[in-house]
This record gives sequence, C-alpha cells and structure tokens, in this order.
Amino acid sequence: MNFKILSLFPEVIAPYLSSSILGRAQAAGKIRVDYYNIRDYSKDKHRRVDDTPYGGGYGMVMAPQPVLDCHKAASAGLAGRTCTVYLSPAGRKFNHDMALWFRQSFDNLILLCGHYEGIDQRIIDRVVDQEVSVGDYVLTGGELPCAILVDAISRLIDGVLPDGECYTNESIASGLLEYPQYTKPATYDGAAVPEVLRAGNHADITRWQREQALAKTWRVRPELLNTALLDKDDLLFLEQLRLEALEAPEKKVTT
Ligand code: SAM
Repeated sequence: MNFKILSLFPEVIAPYLSSSILGRAQAAGKIRVDYYNIRDYSKDKHRRVDDTPYGGGYGMVMAPQPVLDCHKAASAGLAGRTCTVYLSPAGRKFNHDMALWFRQSFDNLILLCGHYEGIDQRIIDRVVDQEVSVGDYVLTGGELPCAILVDAISRLIDGVLPDGECYTNESIASGLLEYPQYTKPATYDGAAVPEVLRAGNHADITRWQREQALAKTWRVRPELLNTALLDKDDLLFLEQLRLEALEAPEKKVTT
C-alpha cells in the first residue's frame, strides 16, 4: 500500500510513522509513505496557502491552487487503484470496517490534511473520493487523523504485524473488547496476576479470557454484543451477568 500524505506540516507526522512497527513495515517494503508539503506548491510570491473565507466568518481557508497542484504532483504516475481521502470532522466516521475496506480496495491512498478552517470546497468536489473523520471532536489539523488512518490500515496488511491475523483477536475486530493482559512479574507492588493465568490450564485460560472479554464489552460497549458472534456458553454467561446486575445494580460499573 502506498500512502501519499499532503499536509502543511508533514514533519509532525513523519516521526510517528517512521518509528516502531510502521517504521519496520516501511523498511521491509510492506508500506510506502511519501510526504508532500502543500506550501511547496504555492505560486504566491510569499508562499501563502490560505485566504479569508467568502461570506465572512472566523479563520482562514486553504486556497485551491496549492492544494490542487500538490494533489497533481502526488497522483502523477500512480499505478493501481487510488483513493483520495480528505481528513475532516465533517466526514464519515472511521472504524475497523472502513480500515479493512481501504486495505482491500486500494493500492494507493492520497491523504489530504486540512488546517485552519479547512479546504476550499471546489478542491474537495474535484479530487476527494472520501471524507473521513476520526471522531466527533475538532482538531487543529488533519495530521493526527492522517497518522491514525495510516496506522490502522497498515497493521491489517500482511507482514506488518508479526502474526498476520493477530489483529482479529483484538478489541473491535474480534467483535468484543479484549480481555485484560498481564506480563511478568507474577506479583507487582502487591497486585497478583489472576491465578487462572498462572495455573497453565489452556481450556480454563481460554474460557476466562472469553468471559472477561464478554463482561468488559457488556459493561463498556454493550451495543457490540448485538453483532458479536456468541455461542451458547457466551449467552449463558451474559444472562448470569444480567441477573447479578439486577440483584446488585451498583456492581455494574460503567467505566
Ligand atoms: N471548519 C471545519 C469544520 O467545522 O468542519 C474544521 C476545520 S479543523 C479546525 C482543521 C482541519 O483539521 C480539518 O480541515 C481536518 O483536516 C482536520 N480535522 C479536525 N478534526 C478532525 C476530525 N475529527 N477528523 C478528521 N480530520 C479532522
């Protein structure tokens, strides 16, 4: 997968994407990330990239010319299926299914980061295929949302994670929230790792992890249980949780 990042501040994204797993993925050629500084394409003699909004109002709007010329440079010579994404709080909300769809559907993602009050609508109309939000809040720029997309999509690409399918056991992708994880030492500052994990009985561990995942999902994101794949034991366990909560409602913590 090729990611082409168009931003006024690409230098804030690069350190994150070149570290750790994503840095190794680039070194191994599993993903490729190219950065384009939109300001480099400004034809203004002062390299301006923004102007005041028509109709008045607060802030500045990113002007069409530098963004369009930058997009032309980023898309030149691209082979394969390409999608241009504008990171925007006014877009569709990003989630695991959308990340999977991007991974499966495209070879190249051109990621357009806005700043100030956003980008002139004519550019969005002309080059943007998908407008994507990372959540119901507004950030100062599209750089963090862009890094989120690159990260979430890249870890679904074969060879990026050590075990290609290990993301399927994690929160959300598995349909549930993940069970608690522990590592050595067995006791730390008076807090012990649950006995079942130390005893080494694989069947007991699997059941405990499943029940912990079910219980956490039920407490924190109960709507996920409507679509999760649940077997008879899961349903019985959830019924038991519901009955316990009816008997002692104060026990159902919500955080
Ligand atoms: N005036 C815009 C609006 O109300 O929709 C918000 C502009 S925001 C201050 C500046 C830039 O940050 C946006 O162009 C976008 O690229 C990025 N941004 C901010 N919040 C975002 C979010 N939740 N998801 C994706 N991008 C976001």
